[in-house]
Amino acid sequence: MFFRQILELARQQRKRVKVVGGGHSPSDIACTDGFMIHMGKLNRVLKVDKEQLQVKVEAGILLSQLNLELDKHGMALANLGAVSEVSAAGVIGTGTHNTGIEHGILPTQVVALSLLVASGEVLECSGAERPELFRAARLHLGALGVVLDVTFQCVPRFRLREIAFPASLTQVLDELEEHLRRSRFFRFLWFPHTDRVRVIYQDPTAQPPKSSSSWFWDYAVGYHLLEFLLWISSFFPGLVVWINRLFFRLLFSSRSENVDRSHRIFNYECRFRQHVQDWAIPM
Ligand SMILES: Cc1cc2nc3c(=O)[nH]c(=O)nc-3n(C[C@H](O)[C@H](O)[C@H](O)COP(=O)(O)OP(=O)(O)OC[C@H]3O[C@@H](n4cnc5c(N)ncnc54)[C@H](O)[C@@H]3O)c2cc1C
Repeated sequence: MFFRQILELARQQRKRVKVVGGGHSPSDIACTDGFMIHMGKLNRVLKVDKEQLQVKVEAGILLSQLNLELDKHGMALANLGAVSEVSAAGVIGTGTHNTGIEHGILPTQVVALSLLVASGEVLECSGAERPELFRAARLHLGALGVVLDVTFQCVPRFRLREIAFPASLTQVLDELEEHLRRSRFFRFLWFPHTDRVRVIYQDPTAQPPKSSSSWFWDYAVGYHLLEFLLWISSFFPGLVVWINRLFFRLLFSSRSENVDRSHRIFNYECRFRQHVQDWAIPM
């Protein structure tokens, strides 16, 4: 196997080997000054088990491709993060999460995987086989070996209805438990320097697809104009307060509703370049 030759060469040269997936991690976790492997061409679906609703894939497959493949078989991943241009191994290895109190991080959807370790041995892991290694390898941080394939537990294909509406930050924090009860996938986006938040509920539905998107408001105003104004605010930071207030009123102060296949609602176009940190705060 080609990978074993890379490991052997790295051993000889006393270098480390890192695998990069979609390269979407905001940190430098996938970077190395040793050898880097990109598994983008190892992107096949290896097995679909329609009875158990499980799918085995090569670790380099992007979730954007997997979502479409599963859709063809009437299946879907139960939960996804905001983007799907990430690989199966990368997305589990960093503990990628979505929102909602009932759902675990994405690695909890993995039922088996195989790992090529530094010795050149391939270890099959699952709840029944090497369970301790399996638990660690599901959230591997790229540090345990090369993940070669991943088996996901899926669910039947489903649609989500997304309702978004404005509220105040104080109100949402006061009623946090109630929001969490009311929607399976609840999140809120706060606009700093204001007391305004956008509350978003996403829940399974049998309703037909529905879209409230508009190129003019979403892109011309919500992306290009906003990015231009934010660029100006990098010279005059005091403007941010006014920009946030104005854009909340223009784009986020009314109710909107969208219904679509689960992956199209879970994923959203992030548009801007992002600087990301995740913080965990006790409720
Ligand atoms: C716009 C944007 C939105 C995002 N939204 C979310 C979100 O909603 N929720 C969330 O939790 N995160 C989110 N993230 C973070 C991102 O989803 C995660 O960082 C995810 O790990 C990226 O997957 P990747 O395939 O790009 O992994 P990479 O960044 O390429 O790699 C991640 C880690 O996995 C290792 N790795 C990759 N493939 C293998 C392999 N085959 N074998 C062994 N190790 C491997 C790498 O070495 C590295 O350590 C977002 C990032 C961006 C840029």
